[in-house]
Amino acid sequence: MKTLHFAIIGAGTAGLATAILLTREGHQVTIFEQVNELSPVGAGLLLQPAGLAVFEHLGVLDQALKLGAKVTGLEGQLPNKRLLVNSHYHQAGSNLYGLGIHRATLCHVLIQKLKEYSSHLTWRMSHTVDRIQENIHEVRLFGTHQQQSFDACFDAVLIANGARSQLRPPAWVKVDQAYPWGAAWSIVPECPTLDPEILHQFYDRSKIMMGVLPTGAIPTAPQQRLSSVFWSLPTSQLQSFLQDESAKQQWLKQVADRWPDVAEWLRRLISNEYNQPQWLSAQYRDVVMSQFGQGRIGVIGDAAHAMSPQLGQGANMALLDAWAFSQSLQAAKQNQQIDWSALWQHYHQHRRSSTQFYQFLSRLLTPLYQSDHWWAGGLRDLTFPWMYQIPYFRKEMAITISGLKTGLFQQLDYQQVAQYAGKDHVFNAKTESLPEYE
Ligand SMILES: Cc1cc2nc3c(=O)[nH]c(=O)nc-3n(C[C@H](O)[C@H](O)[C@H](O)COP(=O)(O)OP(=O)(O)OC[C@H]3O[C@@H](n4cnc5c(N)ncnc54)[C@H](O)[C@@H]3O)c2cc1C
Repeated sequence: MKTLHFAIIGAGTAGLATAILLTREGHQVTIFEQVNELSPVGAGLLLQPAGLAVFEHLGVLDQALKLGAKVTGLEGQLPNKRLLVNSHYHQAGSNLYGLGIHRATLCHVLIQKLKEYSSHLTWRMSHTVDRIQENIHEVRLFGTHQQQSFDACFDAVLIANGARSQLRPPAWVKVDQAYPWGAAWSIVPECPTLDPEILHQFYDRSKIMMGVLPTGAIPTAPQQRLSSVFWSLPTSQLQSFLQDESAKQQWLKQVADRWPDVAEWLRRLISNEYNQPQWLSAQYRDVVMSQFGQGRIGVIGDAAHAMSPQLGQGANMALLDAWAFSQSLQAAKQNQQIDWSALWQHYHQHRRSSTQFYQFLSRLLTPLYQSDHWWAGGLRDLTFPWMYQIPYFRKEMAITISGLKTGLFQQLDYQQVAQYAGKDHVFNAKTESLPEYE
């Protein structure tokens, strides 16, 4: 088959993972990235088992495990110390676990892998793509580089430029709106008192939420283990939290009144005048699309389905998009050509119901943790303990958090995603069986 030349817009999780898969298959890829240099700034994130299956498929799991922090479960405490959320990956499958990882490490392992295929890859850093035009036999990109315009032609383009994308075709966008709540976050030395294999969350009603995520280490300081601290706030209060010392003191008091042990650790961190935690803010968007691709244009990662990080699925979904796209490309080869409509049909079969499931759940659950509704926290505190009493729901929650759900009653098989049997392997969605875990 003729080698295809793909443009990927955006060198985030989705773009880098897709670039590995396409270059590994022998295609040419040009990555357009607006920033000069991929900066190591970013909160830690939790890669769920589904994302780790893609890491195994990409051949980067071993590297990621060296620096990341293995996470066995999620525990969410109320002020009275009762565990409201108590999900452990082994409840979904005996060998499953998550990985807390610094964004710099995530980026590092993907870029190291890409170096193996460098003869098929062209980097276009500090290139901002502004517009895409599809013609019958090609797609043309228009953009700016150092205040000069540029344009270039490709066989196909993948839009992977994140939640704020202005490039996704407007006709496919059903929802594109900012969330009213976000988070202030900081990366700090690992907490010595909390279990280092658990994502710890702390909630009081729907207004107070804090998370402490094991984050592993960064490649330049592999001995220093880190944690990410998240403090949930309405977006209108984020700037004052970052700039105002008294807002941080007030935060410490709110934590100390409820969880004194954790507050003691935080107090020591922020009173260390030689190594003050750096705080940054994160804001979220909700993006829902009616389709993810057509013809020679596709949209992947947050650009296709941004959502609140409450379920910790964004990077996993970006990785699953990359995997599904490469599978669909293989399946759509016909007589030395690509049947683009077959490709998108296959891709939508893989990704649509799973994405819908997680977006629906995220929209349902986020207000229970981040909102001003007086009833939201109470409703959550009444229903969750009841659900954890029932083994079926306990297991379903663990599978959901694992990122493996493809619908209410369906799930992906970890091994089916993880395996890589060389260039000719295709996972056929039509004959797919969905085996149970355990
Ligand atoms: C605070 C926070 C915590 C999170 N926690 C988790 C978690 O625990 N687990 C999880 O799975 N996910 C988590 N997420 C979500 C996760 O980070 C994202 O879903 C994931 O990084 C999306 O990757 P992406 O490649 O789609 O986009 P991005 O990582 O946003 O990458 C997009 C890239 O495109 C570039 N770009 C933008 N516009 C252009 C343009 N016009 N031309 C060229 N380049 C362009 C940008 O510079 C950027 O490099 C979290 C997110 C936040 C904010």
